[in-house]
Amino acid sequence: MGYSPLTNRYRPTSQSSSRLNARVDMVVGHHMAGTDAEGVARAMISGSRQVSSNYIITNEGEIWCMVDEGLRAWTSGSGSDGGKGAAIDRRAITVEIENQSTVGWTISPAAFNAFAALLADVHKRLGVPLSRANMIGHREEWERWRASYPTACPGGLNMDAAVATAAKSLQPAPEPPKKPKPKGKKMILIRNEGGSIAALLPHPTTPELFVRQGLTLDGWGALAGAGYVYVQVSNAQFNAYAPAL
Ligand SMILES: [Zn+2]
Repeated sequence: MGYSPLTNRYRPTSQSSSRLNARVDMVVGHHMAGTDAEGVARAMISGSRQVSSNYIITNEGEIWCMVDEGLRAWTSGSGSDGGKGAAIDRRAITVEIENQSTVGWTISPAAFNAFAALLADVHKRLGVPLSRANMIGHREEWERWRASYPTACPGGLNMDAAVATAAKSLQPAPEPPKKPKPKGKKMILIRNEGGSIAALLPHPTTPELFVRQGLTLDGWGALAGAGYVYVQVSNAQFNAYAPAL
């Protein structure tokens, strides 16, 4: 299955196991409860702790692949949940995010953006729905299914915002606002004398367009000073005045 093209570093650990043919249909976000991504990566690689995740995301927004997506990482397993956490790991892409601070276990903006980009990428490549049913934080495993174990993980990672950001990134760019079309509009040349509309002259190219002297033109904008100005009117506006000419 390989790994995301967003991966900055490929640092595979052998701490992984088979997905046992489970279909990947989830992403589980974790935080490290710590600010040392390098130390966590080394622990995963060396086996000094029996843990791993498919990806690590650093405070700088780097994405490290630690376990190929085709394999199950050891992230949510628990000895006392009847294998439910392990079963979730088998169907999930798991991501450990470095904390920016130990106070409130915050996530850096760069890490958040990288995580959202990875969610969008996993959705596009693997078809995991961009939905909070399928993309969850670690603690929701316990809250929803009594899987894994009670935990504050993923700390300050806002899963709602991450999934929403990922979904937004896949929307087509909004089209630039179109210029109002002159379709159905007519031009009238107005001569203004000293702040009130005193006379109206025919349009030079459509001489049938003129309106009588002294007409009030509501909503067409004020004319400052003396001079001439073209104004655009709708057919309806023109027809309302034209019969009186
Ligand atoms: Zn966790």
